[in-house]
Amino acid sequence: ATAPETHAFEADVSKLLRMMVHSVYSDRDVFLRELISNAADACEKLRYEGIATPSLLGDDPQPCIRVLLDADQNRLTIEDNGIGMTAAEMGETLGTIARSGTKAFMERLAAEAGKEGSQLIGQFGVGFYSAFMVASQVEVFSRRAGSDEAASWTSDGQGTYTIAPVDLADAPTRGTRVVLHLMEDAKSYAERYTVERIIKAQSGHVPVPIMLFEKPDADGVDIADGAALWLKPKSEISEEDYADFYRSVAGQYDKPAHTVHYRAEGRYEYSVLTFIPETKPFDLFDPDRKGHIKLYVRRVFITDEAPILPRYLRFVRGLVDSADLPLNMSREMIQDSPVLGAIQKGVTGRLLGDLQKLSDNDAEAYQRIWENFGPVLKEGLYEDFERREALLGLARFKSTTSGDGWRSLKDYVAQLKENQTAIYYATGSDLDRLSTSPQLEGFRARGIEVLLLPDQVDNFWTTMGVDYEGKPFKSVTQGGADLGLIPLVEGADKPTEPENAAVADFLAFAKTTLADAVSDVRASDRLTTSAVCLVAPESGMDRQLEKLLASAGQ
Ligand code: ADP
Ligand code: MG
Repeated sequence: ATAPETHAFEADVSKLLRMMVHSVYSDRDVFLRELISNAADACEKLRYEGIATPSLLGDDPQPCIRVLLDADQNRLTIEDNGIGMTAAEMGETLGTIARSGTKAFMERLAAEAGKEGSQLIGQFGVGFYSAFMVASQVEVFSRRAGSDEAASWTSDGQGTYTIAPVDLADAPTRGTRVVLHLMEDAKSYAERYTVERIIKAQSGHVPVPIMLFEKPDADGVDIADGAALWLKPKSEISEEDYADFYRSVAGQYDKPAHTVHYRAEGRYEYSVLTFIPETKPFDLFDPDRKGHIKLYVRRVFITDEAPILPRYLRFVRGLVDSADLPLNMSREMIQDSPVLGAIQKGVTGRLLGDLQKLSDNDAEAYQRIWENFGPVLKEGLYEDFERREALLGLARFKSTTSGDGWRSLKDYVAQLKENQTAIYYATGSDLDRLSTSPQLEGFRARGIEVLLLPDQVDNFWTTMGVDYEGKPFKSVTQGGADLGLIPLVEGADKPTEPENAAVADFLAFAKTTLADAVSDVRASDRLTTSAVCLVAPESGMDRQLEKLLASAGQ
């Protein structure tokens, strides 16, 4: 065998570890959840690989996580019989920040310099490294399924780690053993009461059974059965169960704001358990717009990369378990399977329908969801033509008359003014500035409600000829907003009188002075107190969109 090799952590890992060691983070318990979730992931990976290569399972086909306590030695061990890691894999995965959540954490930390790092850990969870919140030394012994070599990875979290080959007898027969040498103030993590309580609360629903061993020579007791929560009838599941499961399936630290659990029967059969988070996940606006629905086939985890939901529903967490996909299909082939297409259609329709119901029955709960995810859902207005109607029904807006509340389009069209034929909107990046824009004066004077659209995405869907109940969307910055036909509110400031000769003189003067800088200068109904404003030509691009494209170099 080769000699032990010592390596330096990636710079970011060192920083993270230093911070963790000095962390005063109050909820250190989460480290256990992270390690158990890694163990469960490893078992699920093996379950999947074992389909194509049954020999990997050997004579130990039942996945299991064992938690072993040793209070005398101040030791806590988490062991799984999952896929395991080779020495090289340990170097790659435990020495670097490969995990996207951890990466995002470090980025946020850099961006919010000075902010207490330990608070951020609580929002993100930093995976494997959280072990160093409670351990002064971590040893990992692992043997990859099918391999006849084993290796160890050891670190005190001070900047380096060592990888060495070990005798087969010193590693699990298959899988990974993580041994934590607990810090003085973390001794309680070797006590049964504490550990059992934490596991039941945090990890009671991981899909792999968990056994606890109170002492080195004690018999194990089952503390979690590894049953698939999503296959149980709803009546047997409490809100707490759902919340626990949500946290473990989503790797989130908040609660679900809304849960959708059902079984589809008919042409295809599948179970769905999905959650809308209570808070915005950190990767919501990542450019790859990745979804987070896990795909299972008859309880076997297949992938979390399958396009089960459209991108504008990427904030939804959870899983779909299909009975119709063949288990021995490659992940790539599954992506293109018509079954997956049917599932996507079914689940998307169901989720939108459910949101519609929620908005009818519990407007407040729905508005909280919209506040978090509205800008994402609106992407569907230009991406998903088929469901545009449904999405317009779900959309909520701030407007010149909404105050702190939200308006639906149904509300809007119910209160159209006499002769008003369009839904007026203004786009911009800032709600306050939008609402004081001079463009709105003529609308205010007529009591016409204008939707205020502050999100980037609003610059796109509004240009696609969208209408609602036959009323087209029209930007207030576009030319000839046909306000003349709509009567003024009583007592409103009168707009400038266009026939005025002085105005005509001024218009001529402005046109010659501005020359090619503008295509026209016109007197307008739209202003009451401001002197001028810029507008886009009737058929031209909206001003905000022009700005956006200009800044993107187009
Ligand atoms: P994540 O689980 O989000 O990928 P972690 O920091 O928790 O991030 O783990 C990093 C990586 O280390 C995992 O992706 C996996 O490749 C590897 N790993 C950690 N624990 C285990 C384990 N018990 N068995 C196999 N691989 C593991
Ligand atoms: Mg993990």
